[in-house]
Amino acid sequence: MRCIFCEIIEGTISSKKIFENDELIAFHDIKPIDKVHFLITPKKHIENLIACSETDKETIANMLLLAPKLAKELGLNGFRIMINSGAEGGQEVFHMHFHVYGGSSKLVKI
Ligand code: AMP
Ligand code: ZN
Repeated sequence: MRCIFCEIIEGTISSKKIFENDELIAFHDIKPIDKVHFLITPKKHIENLIACSETDKETIANMLLLAPKLAKELGLNGFRIMINSGAEGGQEVFHMHFHVYGGSSKLVKI
């Protein structure tokens, strides 16, 4: 399975990369919904949280732990994480990613 995020990971499609290691990559969202909005995604093609299993739990933990580090580097004192999962969850790109965004003072409370 190969998708648009796989192509970003391979470098075939360019992105504004923030972070990369053997397991994960982070890049700015092309259509930001806040002052800062980036995506953290595993290099391994996993569709979404629904498709995750026990073997992915370290990756998920590493994705969550990376969020505050990168947010801080990008000048955020706080942020939100959104994980759209499945078509009914608003997911459009079926390669798991965590949206990390913040920076605006006008937040819709949920
Ligand atoms: P989702 O609806 O959770 O699947 O989110 C997919 C996100 O990927 C959207 O916020 C898009 O703006 C973003 N996106 C799509 N293509 C690119 C791209 N080439 N570079 C960066 N972000 C992208
Ligand atoms: Zn993919």
